[in-house]
Amino acid sequence: MDNKILKGWENVLTRMATDISAVSFDLWLKPLEVIDLKDGAIILAAPSVVTKSQVLKNFKDALLNAITAEFDNVIGFELFTPEEKEEYLKYNKPFEEEIQQAATQNTLDNFNPKYTFDNFVVGKSNQFVYTACRAVAENPAMRFNPLFIYGGVGLGKTHLLHAIGNYIKNNLKDKKIVYVTCENFINDYVYALKFNSSNDTIITNFREKYRNVDVLMVDDVQFISEKRALQEEFFHTFNDLYQKNKQIIISSDRPPREISALEDRLKSRFASGLIQDIQKPDLETRIAILEKKAAIENYNIEKDAIKFIAERVDTNIREMEGFLSKVIFFSSLLGKTLATVDDAQEALKNYLETNKESLSTDRIINVVCGYFNVTKDDLIGKKKTKEIVTARQICVYLITEMMDLPLTTIGEIFGGRDHTTIIHSRDKIEEMVKNKTSVSVAVNDLKAMLE
Ligand code: ADP
Ligand code: MG
Repeated sequence: MDNKILKGWENVLTRMATDISAVSFDLWLKPLEVIDLKDGAIILAAPSVVTKSQVLKNFKDALLNAITAEFDNVIGFELFTPEEKEEYLKYNKPFEEEIQQAATQNTLDNFNPKYTFDNFVVGKSNQFVYTACRAVAENPAMRFNPLFIYGGVGLGKTHLLHAIGNYIKNNLKDKKIVYVTCENFINDYVYALKFNSSNDTIITNFREKYRNVDVLMVDDVQFISEKRALQEEFFHTFNDLYQKNKQIIISSDRPPREISALEDRLKSRFASGLIQDIQKPDLETRIAILEKKAAIENYNIEKDAIKFIAERVDTNIREMEGFLSKVIFFSSLLGKTLATVDDAQEALKNYLETNKESLSTDRIINVVCGYFNVTKDDLIGKKKTKEIVTARQICVYLITEMMDLPLTTIGEIFGGRDHTTIIHSRDKIEEMVKNKTSVSVAVNDLKAMLE
């Protein structure tokens, strides 16, 4: 059990002791046991059912006051009978274990064995990023530090980070390497902060975990923009590692300059190393990726069927691999040993007809830019000329109409605009479509082009 909690509980008892008779105190309060601190509540156990009911009957409010006065982060308490305690402990880890867990659970040094450099198909779209990742894996902190890689969803960023991890684990055994998704980094940090006032070793553990490494990888760092305090923490982690000449590798779905609300000092730290993008793979590379995947998974599939799939997905490799599995599944349901083009056509009929896959915010933005003859930078930027504003609002309108995306995400895409701005644009165009011919013509044209 955590010492600070015990100490705090002792203080609670002292507070209580001043207000009630010594006999009552010894009989009812002293025997209580603290077993956990969870979700902002102190969890207590009574030695018997009678004790529990007596405590709740006579001291509930006083105890609550004493507890909330003593512990900053606690808003209530629960009191268990011995039976309830046992039940609770079956499904919950006591506080101490939780601390240890927090120190290990969120990071990874167990990498997906399929995500290796060997299994990564290199083509024009990704050769630079591949080379940079390899160089960093072979000689951490020697050349590209930090290494910042970015690219759209499903283009292989996580695969590459794991490949670095696998390589280092196998070849540079003395190097300590930690991989964390930005989301888990945030959770870990929030957890550490939450309990820091009751136990400051937690924040120390947090820092040690991320600063006591040779290689730190943070996946999907774009989520960092949501939290200021976290950027601060990350900045210090970053500096600390950098000064100790440790390797930092970061992935993101967009370049640093497009991560809204990212502090300038972090942007310039990222820029001090190598920033490298992954492009969409061309058809040839996509075919090679599917062939490799089929070989790894022992799928039997005709070359033409592979081509059929590769021709139909060009933005997301994960999705393309999903199509491959669907085709294999379909043909195996028919009892076939080799999947053919016909199978592929049948299996993917429903997915390809709706054409939903090929609709993306990027595509909508491109089509709108082409239609109104404005650049993408202007469209998502801050310029306020009438033409650009109209194009921008129509673009927002189309995205809200045609895609199922949260408004905040759309705001992010449009240079970090607030969701209320997005709602405003949408409503305005909705109104104009009804009343203004030029706008309704444009919207109809654009929809036809996109569908
Ligand atoms: P991201 O992290 O960029 O969203 P992932 O790394 O999760 O994308 O990749 C999605 C899937 O596509 C994974 O199964 C990965 O193995 C595969 N993939 C992506 N690029 C390649 C490539 N060049 N060669 C082989 N597989 C790839
Ligand atoms: Mg990823």
